Amino acid sequence: MIPILDSKRQYATIGNEIEKVVCEVLRSGSYILGPNCKALEVELAKYIGCNYTVALNSGTDALHLALRALDIGKGDEVITTAFTFVATTEAIGIVGATPVFADIDPDTFNIDPKKIEERITPKTKAIIPVHLYGQPCDMDAIMDIAKRYNLYVIEDCCQAIGAEYKGQKVGTFGDIGCYSFYPTKNLGGMGDGGLITVNSENLRNRIIALRNHGGAIRYHHDEIGVNSRLDEIQAAILRVKLNYIDDWNKQRRAHAKTYNELFANCPDIQTPKELPDTYCVYHQYTVKIPNRDNIHKMLQEAGIGAMLYYPIPLHLQKVHEHLGWSKGSLPNTEKDTECVISLPMFPELTLEEQKTVASTLINCIEKSKAAV
Ligand SMILES: *Cc1c(COP(=O)(O)O)cnc(C)c1O
Repeated sequence: MIPILDSKRQYATIGNEIEKVVCEVLRSGSYILGPNCKALEVELAKYIGCNYTVALNSGTDALHLALRALDIGKGDEVITTAFTFVATTEAIGIVGATPVFADIDPDTFNIDPKKIEERITPKTKAIIPVHLYGQPCDMDAIMDIAKRYNLYVIEDCCQAIGAEYKGQKVGTFGDIGCYSFYPTKNLGGMGDGGLITVNSENLRNRIIALRNHGGAIRYHHDEIGVNSRLDEIQAAILRVKLNYIDDWNKQRRAHAKTYNELFANCPDIQTPKELPDTYCVYHQYTVKIPNRDNIHKMLQEAGIGAMLYYPIPLHLQKVHEHLGWSKGSLPNTEKDTECVISLPMFPELTLEEQKTVASTLINCIEKSKAAV
């Protein structure tokens, strides 16, 4: 059995360090938004390269509070991709705004800047590009459109911590960047967590108030907020793991290169393409194959933990039915949801395992072709 991700292997390498800092938190008596959260915010601002970060309870909250902080709500439209995790559009729905979908670039799976402009209306307030699978979006083109139409940009970086576009980390191009520390992410806690990156001090203060019941001063409430505070145990764990994130991302990139080489002679397997001048962090290693559902089943039976991210595009999900998007409206997105499959990818994956994954996938494709 080769899992898509094995968190226990990572714990085996740094468990001692983590147990030490968790015990320190337990003894400290300070459990929420304490010294570890403050330090994590400073360390991550330095790592990502922005003025401020605000630690939150989840990536979903980061997206939600980013929209709130920019006063986006009822009657407003936000352009984004349908080829992402539902949290991206859920956040738009939570604030009462309307997601508007632009099709993807089939090479990178990310929103195609050329498809954004035709979706802009007088109601459009913002664009949410999603750096899917750890691949940076074409930020020059997106920021150019945002400037010309005076739109906000909120980057969904939940799968892309450490990823760079032209030497600059994602989450620093738009007005706000949103990160998730869900355990399976490249920098994952041992519970939920999230983060906002921001350069504007005003926006930072607004988000700090929103995360703690809408008031900067205790028991003084200026607006309806939420409880989205990060706890000290998660912050302490994330501070340990932050020391390793660059090495882990390097290992993921090396694994991606190995997979690419193993599939180099297989015209049926389309390996991921990177935009020039980007640093991709391979949250997922996702290929396109024919007869995908069948091969997915065969891989599962062979003990290979392959996954489908995401089997139904968001414009065709029941939750967004009332928006009236029909099949055929986003052809590249719809085509890719039918042929993508993500293979085992985590820093501790071994070369032997990668070879097994590759030869099994190649075999399954040959078998499914012979059966036709
Ligand atoms: C994980 C993820 C989120 C949500 O993050 P949570 O911390 O699980 O709330 C949002 N967008 C994308 C693209 C994600 O992968």
